[in-house]
Amino acid sequence: MTECIFCTLPKTDILVENELALAFFDKFPVNEGHVLIIPKRHVASLFDATREEIMDIWALLGNVKEMLDKRFHPDGYNVGINVGAAAGQTVFHMHVHVIPRYQGDVPDPRGGVRKIKKCLVPYS
Ligand code: AMP
Ligand code: ZN
Repeated sequence: MTECIFCTLPKTDILVENELALAFFDKFPVNEGHVLIIPKRHVASLFDATREEIMDIWALLGNVKEMLDKRFHPDGYNVGINVGAAAGQTVFHMHVHVIPRYQGDVPDPRGGVRKIKKCLVPYS
């Protein structure tokens, strides 16, 4: 395996961790407080992670939300995982994006993650 940036993350970057997962701030945040949650083990995709890893990632999501709520007071969140290059994944160590959203950060937020591409049929 070539060097993975998430496997070689400085320990000081870790915001919160449990047995199988850890969280850190995205270096190129979409919004203030953008966090990534990863399994500690190098797995390329969501579908390579074990049930135990998914459970620890999910548990950390609660801790991360609590921390972000206190620190940044967002009005909402987008939580998402890109799986595969076709879906936009650029770092092939599985990660969950936790993106705080703020009222007015885009003119029309309706649709959220649905807006990653144009709909096949109109959604009214
Ligand atoms: P994705 O496109 O879903 O694979 O997301 C990769 C994410 O990793 C992007 O949001 C990047 O901003 C973020 N990223 C890239 N390099 C680093 C790094 N060294 N430390 C923290 N986040 C990073
Ligand atoms: Zn890795």
